[in-house]
Amino acid sequence: MQTDVVRLTSGFIAQPTSSELSNVPFARHVAGLLDELQFQVEEVEHQHPDGVDKLSIVARRGRGPGGLTLICHSDTVPAAREDGWTTDPYAGTMRGERLHGRGACDMKGALAAVLCAAARWTGTELARPLCILITADEETQARGARQVVSRSRLFAPAARGYGVICEPTRLRVVHAHKGALTMKITARGRAAHTSTLKGINANIKMIPFLNDMKSMYERVLTEECYRNEDFDPPHSEWSLGISDHNPATNMSPARSICSINYRTMPGVDADGLIQATRASARRHGLRLQLVFAGEPLYTAPDSALVRMALQITSTRKPRTVAYGTDGLALSRKMKEMIVVGPGDIAQAHTVDEWIDLDQLRRSVDVYSDFIERVCVRNQD
Ligand SMILES: [Zn+2]
Repeated sequence: MQTDVVRLTSGFIAQPTSSELSNVPFARHVAGLLDELQFQVEEVEHQHPDGVDKLSIVARRGRGPGGLTLICHSDTVPAAREDGWTTDPYAGTMRGERLHGRGACDMKGALAAVLCAAARWTGTELARPLCILITADEETQARGARQVVSRSRLFAPAARGYGVICEPTRLRVVHAHKGALTMKITARGRAAHTSTLKGINANIKMIPFLNDMKSMYERVLTEECYRNEDFDPPHSEWSLGISDHNPATNMSPARSICSINYRTMPGVDADGLIQATRASARRHGLRLQLVFAGEPLYTAPDSALVRMALQITSTRKPRTVAYGTDGLALSRKMKEMIVVGPGDIAQAHTVDEWIDLDQLRRSVDVYSDFIERVCVRNQD
């Protein structure tokens, strides 16, 4: 396997894996590299709702439960030259001390670093197992991670150990991030030409529910019980979307859909919010579908894993972030979990995405140090 982290990242960028494409060829390529490194490899397949095949990889070296799991995702957001890229998004272009390309920062660089770090250790040195998890569809509600939790044979014993999500944090230690909640509420009416008065306007049926949601919007932004000072901002928005897909203004809309998105936080009663929304929908004769509920990630700042990570990264204080990761599906399943990765989230999902080469190279040392402390020296 190529163990120059910059070259390995470039090679990964050259294989497009944006969420609308199948990631199967790329995932199999990475599985082959893990096989070369003497990992036991498990494939966890699923199909995206659009019908595209997806593949997550769980790999383990060493025996027994617990140990360390390093977590990456193989998908990226899309990129096209028409968006204003000044380089080919899939060429892996070097400019000074930066490597440009889709996924350089989020997160093929980190994936390459994890593999390079793993290559420094042989299986015989490991007192506790090292797992590497490469999920599909992280960018679309952590779908691959959810499949791994429910179906992977290799992940189940690893869940008793430590997890490091390798998303970009500039190699600082993140001990908490917000969760996610998505609901879809549908009002049904009847389509008819508006001149006939025979239609039922679904938007009119939606209005009383929207009034309740306006109160909810105000409550979550102002009331103390929806506030968590660990985060910036300390509140989350009760974000509402409305559409009726009505093809003509002289037709009564047959369907009106309200989507609700909310970033949950530790200490905030997400179930209570879901129940209140469900009750309002029922009261007004609407259908509610809970699309996704992802847990927030929270590991205590004085926990063993956070303290170890601060030593490894030579930083003093763990922090929180407002964005979500595969931790939405994994955090409650593992003993302790944090986020530490190379590059800056400010460059993720951008035109001309890049990663700093120094960050990339340092991250190989950081992940290797995690492996040494947890898996080789058996440190708690
Ligand atoms: Zn990411």
